[in-house]
Amino acid sequence: MFNFTIITDDPQTDARTGIFETPHGRLLTPVFAPVGTQATVKTLTPRDLAESGATLVLANNYHLYLRPGTKLVAEFGGLHSFMGWPGPMLTDSGGFQVFSLAQMRKLDPDGVTFRSHIDGSLHRFTPESAIVSQEDLGADIIMCLDECPEPLDRKYNEDALARTHAWAARCRTAKRRPDQALFGIVQGGVFPDLRVESARTLRALDFPGYAIGGLSVGETKEQMYATLDVTVPELPVARPRYLMGVGAPEDVVEGVARGIDIFDCVLPTRVARNGGLLTCQGRMNLRNARYAADPLPIEPGCDCYACQHFSRAYLRHLFKTEEILGLHLATVHNVRFMIRLMEEIRQHIAAGTFAAFRSAFLAGYHLPDQDVRHAQKEKRRQAANRK
Ligand SMILES: [Zn+2]
Repeated sequence: MFNFTIITDDPQTDARTGIFETPHGRLLTPVFAPVGTQATVKTLTPRDLAESGATLVLANNYHLYLRPGTKLVAEFGGLHSFMGWPGPMLTDSGGFQVFSLAQMRKLDPDGVTFRSHIDGSLHRFTPESAIVSQEDLGADIIMCLDECPEPLDRKYNEDALARTHAWAARCRTAKRRPDQALFGIVQGGVFPDLRVESARTLRALDFPGYAIGGLSVGETKEQMYATLDVTVPELPVARPRYLMGVGAPEDVVEGVARGIDIFDCVLPTRVARNGGLLTCQGRMNLRNARYAADPLPIEPGCDCYACQHFSRAYLRHLFKTEEILGLHLATVHNVRFMIRLMEEIRQHIAAGTFAAFRSAFLAGYHLPDQDVRHAQKEKRRQAANRK
């Protein structure tokens, strides 16, 4: 159980393909996990997920601990049977949500006390309790309780790192179930020395896999890539590496090039519900008037149910009339887009053509923030011309 076999090492980058074996099935890596925070990938049934080619689904301990309660999920045989997903699953410990969502939090060396963002009720997570509730949920991969500081605050990162490391050791001791793999989480913000220290400390604890946390939370893309450049080489080659909360298609391609094996992100499903559709040219805003009579599918050539059956004009109509089907179809496409991207990445690594694929993909992929920047620049230029 939890064997990780590297199949192909890319000669030009640090990308690799592998097989990670879990009690609920094998994962071909690099893999992208759609996020089902509340034990559901919003608008999709497990049947839709399976049809998209998704293999790994993520759920969240913080949210499920608060509602419906992890003990209740355990009574239903754990998350797999509670939500009807038979494949591999991963739960986050909830550390990130305590630090980003909870209304109040009070840290002490033993754990963290917080108020629920739902009703203000008082709760406490310790490394041990985060393991117990994740054992109740029963995902194949579970995570250590960690502290997620603001990535640019040096002093805070130093203090938090000591806690995160002590908590990782306690999580490891507390873990009981042999059918779950507990991953350690490297923290340290954007500071190379802290990242190296964190990776080395966790490596000494010998986890079956390692996550890189605290990225894609406010630092620039350059800082994120630079952090991966110093962190990944410190992690054991023969264990899976998981970049938490990333990402956007371009970040996934860059992460793979730096040796990351597992990704998860709410982005594809969240932007879908706002009418944002992922294509290999970049993000398309379906609400745009230019698609009002467009007979093309979202992305010509895509094999998803939405692209095989519906026009952009119809999907735009669903969004304009706030029909629920629009949210579903857009999500079907975006999840399939990410899964197809991973399939292509694995094929290119296997064929030795990943470096060329990476350049071609990034050259063709229009970043949304660049669009926004260009639009703002254009507005300023026009305003200046009117003066
Ligand atoms: Zn599609």
